[in-house]
Amino acid sequence: MNNTIIAVDGTGSYRLYLTITTDAVKEASRIHGCTPLASAALGRTLTAAGMMGLMLKGDSDRLTIQFKGDGPAQEILATAYPDGSVKAYIADPSVDLPLKSSGKLDVGGAIGNGTLTVIKDMGMKEPYVGRIDLVSGEIAEDLTQYFTVSEQQPSSVALGVRMDLEGLPAYAGGMIIQVLPGASDECLTALEDMLFYMDSLTLLIKDAEEAEGEDKTRILMDLIFGKLPEEFRPLILDEREIKWHCDCSRERMEAALVSLGKKDLRQLIDEDGQAELTCQFCRRSYRFDRDELEAIWQKAQN
Ligand code: ZN
Repeated sequence: MNNTIIAVDGTGSYRLYLTITTDAVKEASRIHGCTPLASAALGRTLTAAGMMGLMLKGDSDRLTIQFKGDGPAQEILATAYPDGSVKAYIADPSVDLPLKSSGKLDVGGAIGNGTLTVIKDMGMKEPYVGRIDLVSGEIAEDLTQYFTVSEQQPSSVALGVRMDLEGLPAYAGGMIIQVLPGASDECLTALEDMLFYMDSLTLLIKDAEEAEGEDKTRILMDLIFGKLPEEFRPLILDEREIKWHCDCSRERMEAALVSLGKKDLRQLIDEDGQAELTCQFCRRSYRFDRDELEAIWQKAQN
Protein backbone atom coordinates (compact mmCIF):
# COMPACT_ATOMS: atom_id res chain seq x y z
CA MET A 1 0.00 0.00 0.00
CA ASN A 2 1.17 3.52 -0.73
CA ASN A 3 2.44 5.39 2.30
CA THR A 4 3.59 8.61 0.68
CA ILE A 5 1.71 11.55 -0.85
CA ILE A 6 3.10 14.17 -3.22
CA ALA A 7 0.76 17.15 -3.51
CA VAL A 8 0.50 20.83 -4.47
CA ASP A 9 -2.00 23.29 -3.01
CA GLY A 10 -4.73 24.87 -5.13
CA THR A 11 -2.85 28.19 -5.53
CA GLY A 12 0.46 26.56 -6.53
CA SER A 13 2.20 28.07 -3.50
CA TYR A 14 3.78 24.96 -2.02
CA ARG A 15 4.62 21.35 -2.79
CA LEU A 16 4.11 18.68 -0.12
CA TYR A 17 5.80 15.34 0.56
CA LEU A 18 4.07 13.47 3.38
CA THR A 19 4.92 9.94 4.47
CA ILE A 20 4.29 7.31 7.14
CA THR A 21 7.46 5.18 7.38
CA THR A 22 6.65 3.08 10.45
CA ASP A 23 7.36 -0.25 8.70
CA ALA A 24 10.68 0.83 7.16
CA VAL A 25 11.90 2.31 10.45
CA LYS A 26 10.92 -0.83 12.38
CA GLU A 27 12.88 -2.91 9.86
CA ALA A 28 15.97 -0.68 10.06
CA SER A 29 15.85 -0.71 13.86
CA ARG A 30 15.54 -4.52 13.96
CA ILE A 31 18.37 -5.12 11.47
CA HIS A 32 20.81 -2.86 13.30
CA GLY A 33 19.69 -3.76 16.83
CA CYS A 34 19.14 -0.09 17.68
CA THR A 35 18.65 1.52 21.07
CA PRO A 36 15.68 3.96 21.14
CA LEU A 37 18.07 6.87 20.57
CA ALA A 38 19.71 5.13 17.59
CA SER A 39 16.27 4.24 16.19
CA ALA A 40 15.19 7.87 16.38
CA ALA A 41 18.34 9.17 14.67
CA LEU A 42 18.39 6.43 12.02
CA GLY A 43 14.61 6.56 11.48
CA ARG A 44 14.52 10.33 10.96
CA THR A 45 17.43 10.14 8.49
CA LEU A 46 15.89 7.21 6.61
CA THR A 47 12.51 8.96 6.38
CA ALA A 48 14.03 12.17 5.01
CA ALA A 49 16.17 10.27 2.50
CA GLY A 50 13.11 8.33 1.32
CA MET A 51 11.23 11.54 0.51
CA MET A 52 14.28 13.15 -1.12
CA GLY A 53 14.79 10.01 -3.22
CA LEU A 54 11.32 10.56 -4.67
CA MET A 55 12.44 14.05 -5.81
CA LEU A 56 15.04 12.51 -8.15
CA LYS A 57 14.18 12.46 -11.84
CA GLY A 58 16.13 9.64 -13.53
CA ASP A 59 15.40 5.95 -12.82
CA SER A 60 19.04 5.16 -12.02
CA ASP A 61 19.63 8.30 -9.91
CA ARG A 62 20.62 7.84 -6.28
CA LEU A 63 20.67 10.09 -3.23
CA THR A 64 22.74 9.72 -0.07
CA ILE A 65 22.42 11.71 3.16
CA GLN A 66 25.33 11.56 5.57
CA PHE A 67 25.42 13.01 9.09
CA LYS A 68 28.94 13.02 10.53
CA GLY A 69 29.63 14.44 13.96
CA ASP A 70 31.81 14.32 17.08
CA GLY A 71 28.99 12.77 19.16
CA PRO A 72 28.81 9.06 20.14
CA ALA A 73 26.65 8.06 17.14
CA GLN A 74 29.56 9.20 14.91
CA GLU A 75 27.91 8.70 11.53
CA ILE A 76 24.47 8.06 10.05
CA LEU A 77 24.03 7.30 6.39
CA ALA A 78 20.94 6.70 4.27
CA THR A 79 20.73 5.99 0.54
CA ALA A 80 17.49 6.31 -1.40
CA TYR A 81 16.29 5.72 -4.95
CA PRO A 82 13.51 7.26 -7.09
CA ASP A 83 11.41 4.09 -6.74
CA GLY A 84 11.06 4.76 -2.99
CA SER A 85 13.52 2.14 -1.76
CA VAL A 86 15.83 3.22 1.04
CA LYS A 87 18.60 1.68 3.15
CA ALA A 88 20.38 3.16 6.15
CA TYR A 89 23.23 2.66 8.56
CA ILE A 90 24.37 4.05 11.93
CA ALA A 91 27.97 3.66 13.10
CA ASP A 92 26.99 3.01 16.72
CA PRO A 93 23.51 1.42 17.03
CA SER A 94 24.05 1.02 20.81
CA VAL A 95 24.32 4.80 21.38
CA ASP A 96 22.51 5.89 24.53
CA LEU A 97 22.26 9.27 26.30
CA PRO A 98 20.04 10.72 29.05
CA LEU A 99 16.75 12.21 27.81
CA LYS A 100 16.69 15.97 27.24
CA SER A 101 14.93 18.18 29.81
CA SER A 102 11.94 18.20 27.42
CA GLY A 103 11.71 14.40 27.86
CA LYS A 104 12.77 13.81 24.25
CA LEU A 105 15.53 11.58 22.94
CA ASP A 106 18.76 13.55 22.52
CA VAL A 107 19.44 12.99 18.81
CA GLY A 108 21.38 16.26 18.56
CA GLY A 109 23.65 15.13 21.40
CA ALA A 110 24.15 11.73 19.77
CA ILE A 111 25.38 13.34 16.56
CA GLY A 112 27.20 16.31 18.09
CA ASN A 113 28.92 19.01 16.05
CA GLY A 114 29.72 18.18 12.46
CA THR A 115 28.44 18.24 8.92
CA LEU A 116 25.52 17.15 6.80
CA THR A 117 26.45 16.02 3.30
CA VAL A 118 23.94 15.30 0.54
CA ILE A 119 25.23 13.42 -2.50
CA LYS A 120 23.10 13.11 -5.63
CA ASP A 121 24.41 10.65 -8.18
CA MET A 122 22.58 11.46 -11.40
CA GLY A 123 24.64 9.49 -13.91
CA MET A 124 27.01 12.42 -14.59
CA LYS A 125 30.79 12.15 -14.35
CA GLU A 126 30.76 13.85 -10.98
CA PRO A 127 27.92 13.55 -8.47
CA TYR A 128 26.33 16.68 -7.00
CA VAL A 129 27.62 17.22 -3.44
CA GLY A 130 26.13 19.75 -1.00
CA ARG A 131 27.55 20.19 2.49
CA ILE A 132 26.58 22.36 5.46
CA ASP A 133 27.63 22.62 9.10
CA LEU A 134 25.01 21.06 11.37
CA VAL A 135 22.53 23.45 12.97
CA SER A 136 21.46 21.20 15.86
CA GLY A 137 22.04 17.59 14.78
CA GLU A 138 18.31 17.01 15.25
CA ILE A 139 18.11 16.02 11.52
CA ALA A 140 14.97 17.96 10.45
CA GLU A 141 16.44 21.39 11.34
CA ASP A 142 19.66 20.51 9.58
CA LEU A 143 17.82 19.45 6.42
CA THR A 144 15.69 22.62 6.47
CA GLN A 145 18.96 24.56 6.52
CA TYR A 146 20.42 22.39 3.76
CA PHE A 147 17.46 23.01 1.42
CA THR A 148 17.53 26.74 2.07
CA VAL A 149 21.30 27.28 1.82
CA SER A 150 22.55 24.57 -0.56
CA GLU A 151 19.57 24.25 -2.89
CA GLN A 152 18.10 27.78 -2.48
CA GLN A 153 14.78 26.04 -1.91
CA PRO A 154 12.92 27.48 1.11
CA SER A 155 11.47 24.42 2.83
CA SER A 156 10.10 23.16 6.09
CA VAL A 157 11.08 19.66 7.21
CA ALA A 158 9.40 17.69 10.02
CA LEU A 159 10.47 14.19 11.00
CA GLY A 160 9.45 11.95 13.87
CA VAL A 161 9.91 8.51 15.38
CA ARG A 162 7.87 7.58 18.47
CA MET A 163 8.83 4.60 20.64
CA ASP A 164 6.54 2.11 22.35
CA LEU A 165 6.97 1.17 26.01
CA GLU A 166 9.60 -1.44 25.10
CA GLY A 167 11.69 1.20 23.34
CA LEU A 168 10.92 -0.02 19.82
CA PRO A 169 9.69 2.27 17.03
CA ALA A 170 5.88 2.40 17.05
CA TYR A 171 5.14 5.33 14.71
CA ALA A 172 7.36 7.11 12.21
CA GLY A 173 6.97 9.55 9.39
CA GLY A 174 7.90 12.86 7.87
CA MET A 175 6.82 15.90 5.94
CA ILE A 176 8.66 18.25 3.59
CA ILE A 177 6.94 21.46 2.46
CA GLN A 178 8.67 23.35 -0.38
CA VAL A 179 7.69 26.93 -1.14
CA LEU A 180 7.15 27.37 -4.88
CA PRO A 181 8.12 30.45 -6.95
CA GLY A 182 5.36 33.08 -6.93
CA ALA A 183 3.77 31.67 -3.78
CA SER A 184 0.82 33.64 -2.38
CA ASP A 185 1.66 35.49 0.86
CA GLU A 186 -1.78 34.69 2.17
CA CYS A 187 -1.21 30.97 1.69
CA LEU A 188 2.25 31.04 3.32
CA THR A 189 0.88 32.90 6.34
CA ALA A 190 -1.91 30.36 6.74
CA LEU A 191 0.67 27.57 6.42
CA GLU A 192 2.97 29.13 9.04
CA ASP A 193 0.06 29.45 11.49
CA MET A 194 -0.91 25.85 10.82
CA LEU A 195 2.64 24.59 11.49
CA PHE A 196 2.94 26.73 14.63
CA TYR A 197 -0.17 25.22 16.22
CA MET A 198 0.33 21.70 14.84
CA ASP A 199 0.50 18.76 17.27
CA SER A 200 3.60 16.60 17.17
CA LEU A 201 3.80 14.72 13.87
CA THR A 202 4.09 11.29 15.51
CA LEU A 203 0.99 11.91 17.64
CA LEU A 204 -0.91 12.75 14.45
CA ILE A 205 0.47 9.60 12.78
CA LYS A 206 -0.77 7.59 15.77
CA ASP A 207 -4.23 9.18 15.38
CA ALA A 208 -4.20 8.41 11.64
CA GLU A 209 -3.12 4.79 12.21
CA GLU A 210 -5.89 4.31 14.78
CA ALA A 211 -8.59 6.05 12.69
CA GLU A 212 -11.13 4.17 10.57
CA GLY A 213 -10.19 3.94 6.91
CA GLU A 214 -7.63 2.21 4.72
CA ASP A 215 -5.52 5.09 3.52
CA LYS A 216 -3.62 6.28 6.58
CA THR A 217 -1.48 8.88 4.80
CA ARG A 218 -4.59 10.58 3.35
CA ILE A 219 -6.12 10.60 6.84
CA LEU A 220 -2.88 12.11 8.18
CA MET A 221 -2.94 14.80 5.47
CA ASP A 222 -6.51 15.75 6.42
CA LEU A 223 -5.58 15.87 10.12
CA ILE A 224 -2.70 18.27 9.39
CA PHE A 225 -4.10 20.43 6.58
CA GLY A 226 -7.86 20.09 7.13
CA LYS A 227 -8.14 23.39 9.01
CA LEU A 228 -6.68 25.47 6.17
CA PRO A 229 -9.04 27.41 3.87
CA GLU A 230 -10.02 25.09 1.06
CA GLU A 231 -7.92 26.74 -1.69
CA PHE A 232 -4.74 26.31 0.39
CA ARG A 233 -5.22 22.59 1.06
CA PRO A 234 -2.96 20.12 -0.77
CA LEU A 235 -4.25 18.38 -3.90
CA ILE A 236 -2.72 14.96 -4.43
CA LEU A 237 -0.53 14.62 -7.55
CA ASP A 238 0.95 11.20 -6.88
CA GLU A 239 1.02 8.43 -4.27
CA ARG A 240 4.16 6.36 -3.78
CA GLU A 241 5.68 3.87 -1.40
CA ILE A 242 8.83 4.38 0.66
CA LYS A 243 10.16 0.98 1.71
CA TRP A 244 13.26 -0.60 3.22
CA HIS A 245 15.29 -2.41 0.58
CA CYS A 246 18.98 -3.28 0.40
CA ASP A 247 20.38 -3.90 -3.08
CA CYS A 248 23.62 -5.58 -2.00
CA SER A 249 24.62 -8.77 -3.83
CA ARG A 250 27.39 -11.34 -4.13
CA GLU A 251 28.50 -9.65 -7.38
CA ARG A 252 28.95 -6.31 -5.59
CA MET A 253 30.96 -7.94 -2.80
CA GLU A 254 33.15 -9.60 -5.46
CA ALA A 255 33.70 -6.22 -7.06
CA ALA A 256 34.74 -4.84 -3.66
CA LEU A 257 37.32 -7.65 -3.33
CA VAL A 258 38.62 -6.98 -6.87
CA SER A 259 39.03 -3.31 -5.97
CA LEU A 260 41.48 -4.29 -3.19
CA GLY A 261 44.04 -4.93 -5.93
CA LYS A 262 46.07 -8.06 -6.64
CA LYS A 263 48.67 -7.50 -3.92
CA ASP A 264 46.25 -7.12 -0.99
CA LEU A 265 44.02 -9.86 -2.32
CA ARG A 266 47.02 -12.26 -2.51
CA GLN A 267 47.87 -11.44 1.08
CA LEU A 268 44.26 -12.11 2.14
CA ILE A 269 44.25 -15.51 0.40
CA ASP A 270 47.64 -16.56 1.80
CA GLU A 271 47.01 -15.38 5.36
CA ASP A 272 43.29 -16.05 5.87
CA GLY A 273 42.41 -18.48 3.08
CA GLN A 274 38.85 -17.15 3.09
CA ALA A 275 36.91 -13.91 3.43
CA GLU A 276 33.64 -12.85 4.97
CA LEU A 277 32.19 -9.49 3.97
CA THR A 278 29.21 -7.97 5.75
CA CYS A 279 26.93 -5.38 4.13
CA GLN A 280 26.94 -2.30 6.38
CA PHE A 281 23.32 -1.53 5.51
CA CYS A 282 21.51 -4.86 5.97
CA ARG A 283 24.15 -6.83 7.94
CA ARG A 284 23.94 -9.74 5.49
CA SER A 285 27.28 -11.53 5.25
CA TYR A 286 28.90 -13.06 2.19
CA ARG A 287 31.54 -15.80 2.51
CA PHE A 288 34.21 -16.55 -0.07
CA ASP A 289 36.37 -19.70 0.17
CA ARG A 290 39.93 -20.08 -1.12
CA ASP A 291 38.93 -21.31 -4.61
CA GLU A 292 36.50 -18.43 -5.07
CA LEU A 293 39.12 -15.94 -3.90
CA GLU A 294 41.68 -17.41 -6.34
CA ALA A 295 39.18 -16.89 -9.18
CA ILE A 296 38.60 -13.30 -8.07
CA TRP A 297 42.38 -12.78 -7.84
CA GLN A 298 42.64 -13.82 -11.49
CA LYS A 299 40.14 -11.09 -12.38
CA ALA A 300 41.94 -8.37 -10.41
CA GLN A 301 44.07 -6.08 -12.63
CA ASN A 302 47.02 -5.13 -10.49
ZN1 ZN B 1 22.80 -5.22 2.13
